[in-house]
Amino acid sequence: MKIGILSTNRNLYSTRRLVEAGVARGHEMPVINHKRCYMNITSHRPSVHLKGESITGVNAIIPRIGASVSFYGTAVVRQFEMMGVYSVNESVAITRSRDKLRACQLLARKGIGLPVTGFANSPDDTEDLIDIAGGAPVVIKLLEGTQGVGVVLAETRKAAESVIEAFRGLKANFMVQEFIAEAGGADIRCFVVGDKVVAAMKRQGKEGEFRSNLHRGGSATLIKLTPEERSTAVRSAKVMGLNVAGVDLLRSNHGPVVMEVNSSPGLEGIEKATNKDVAGMIIEFIEKNAKKSSTRTRGTG
Ligand code: ADP
Ligand code: MG
Repeated sequence: MKIGILSTNRNLYSTRRLVEAGVARGHEMPVINHKRCYMNITSHRPSVHLKGESITGVNAIIPRIGASVSFYGTAVVRQFEMMGVYSVNESVAITRSRDKLRACQLLARKGIGLPVTGFANSPDDTEDLIDIAGGAPVVIKLLEGTQGVGVVLAETRKAAESVIEAFRGLKANFMVQEFIAEAGGADIRCFVVGDKVVAAMKRQGKEGEFRSNLHRGGSATLIKLTPEERSTAVRSAKVMGLNVAGVDLLRSNHGPVVMEVNSSPGLEGIEKATNKDVAGMIIEFIEKNAKKSSTRTRGTG
């Protein structure tokens, strides 16, 4: 098969591993820089172009869309879908998971455990908003942040009010969340492929840090999941409509709660922590599922 990887940098660990795993299984693995793709959206013959050439013959794509290019990146994925190319994660699913509020709402609808979360527009409702999240300490987070940026722990009500005021001043959208103190600065990354958690690791934030992101100096170790954690991760990916997802959970006093569902989960941390060929499992999933025109999206939704 010809499996395109939408990635802006072929030297990234995840991109390299996917190329390597695909080639090892006999596939052609072009790396397509989605930022440089442009599109012809005419009826009947949609196409994607790159440096003067029309991209043809691709059977499937693996989108690795960074948070800063969500809008353009998902437009390129949608265009491939319109051409009938199978995308391992569909554009609509990527968009759903990128917006933390939308994702929380969809997960809550299906009864998946979440930290209690509030969202409001008017500054007049700040008091109530903090109360919804159970009062200080609360976590305040930007709806489109990533790698821990824009996630703030406000330990007192005064601090929460100040942060909320600052975010409002910047016209940023944010939500206010119950602080899961008992997680102790650790979370669990469940790497889901299809309907299975294929690898999992515990990430512990560095000393004095409540955010466990590896990009913030967190460290990863192996962990054994409970059946409840496993099913929460698989169900969360399913609710988002993602075939490949990094589902982040916190161990709370009331069971696993989902932090977020990532549509382009990194491979480096998880492969190194678990010694598993996660890239190979993604390729294998595509081999089993990429039939021409099996995409349901076709640019709708
Ligand atoms: P990002 O997309 O920037 O990674 P997250 O929502 O995943 O944002 O938050 C980053 C980290 O902060 C999480 O992995 C977790 O360790 C910590 N964290 C976030 N929200 C909470 C919360 N409500 N309670 C406790 N820890 C939290
Ligand atoms: Mg996160």
